[in-house]
Amino acid sequence: SVVVTGATGRLGQAAVETLLGRGLPAGSVTAVGRDPERLSGLAERGVRTARADYGDPASLKAAFTGADLLLLVSGSEIGQRAAQHRNAVEAASGAGVRHIVYTSAPKATDTTLVLAPEHAATEKIIAASGLTSTILRNGWYNENFLPQLEEAQATGRIVGSAGEGLTASAALRDFAEAAAAVLLEPEAHAGAVYELSGDTAWTRADLARTLSEVLGREVVYQDVTTEEHVAALQQAGLDADTAGFVAALDANTRDGELGEVTDTLRRLIGRPTTPLAETLRAAVSG
Ligand code: NDP
Repeated sequence: SVVVTGATGRLGQAAVETLLGRGLPAGSVTAVGRDPERLSGLAERGVRTARADYGDPASLKAAFTGADLLLLVSGSEIGQRAAQHRNAVEAASGAGVRHIVYTSAPKATDTTLVLAPEHAATEKIIAASGLTSTILRNGWYNENFLPQLEEAQATGRIVGSAGEGLTASAALRDFAEAAAAVLLEPEAHAGAVYELSGDTAWTRADLARTLSEVLGREVVYQDVTTEEHVAALQQAGLDADTAGFVAALDANTRDGELGEVTDTLRRLIGRPTTPLAETLRAAVSG
């Protein structure tokens, strides 16, 4: 049976839905979150649900007991994640899990991406655990650019500091389907480290053009320096840390760290990845 963490979040939830949609019996899926009340809809459909916090090893071990496969969705508490994921891997090992599937980041062990060190550390912890694993180095979600959709709607422009850098994004649902595909056939993916990306990569100027089409109004991309970007984000209400973080990701984009296209995601899901325009259009039509 399969246990999925982060099931209260977008990716974990979509992975659980895909597993059920692909015919996995609800009783062989455990959905784990910090707030199990938010999993009650799944519980009503026969999915086992459990409360666990990455900071609480005993809760993790209890949640994982009885499962042979774990989808470990990376947490969202930046700075604490290596220790948290270590708890999860140790709990999995102690609970008898055989195979861990982990959501990592592009080129985690060989990149300047600011988010990568915690992912690289986690990959190392998983490798050292002796359990079988599959690493899903997920590229950027199309959904990460919904704030730009709002910005474009409000102002007719998007501001950033990514220059001509490329982003090879795909829809969150595509990454969830890939995770489910691996969970449904774990032996075929044992030991693999997959770089998952959208089928095409686009620049911020391309994003502005796509937004123009989707919104039916002119949208321009205004490229600024990192310092100007941080100031603009703070003016828009972000705190200094968050603004610096967002600008650092644009710098990583400018440097090409998020732009590599592979066909691995497409092959795992057995269809082309979802174009950026499709995700943005769906958000506009609600
Ligand atoms: P969400 O923020 O929607 O979900 C994150 C999930 O992780 C939630 O279920 C959350 O639980 C859970 N979580 C966070 N901290 C803990 C903890 N201490 N203990 C137990 N569970 C915890 O993110 P997504 O589903 O969109 O993405 C999945 C992961 O991928 C993210 O957590 C992040 O690591 C990464 N990510 C990747 C992006 C990309 O473009 N590739 C973009 C954004 C994130 P709770 O509901 O209780 O908060």
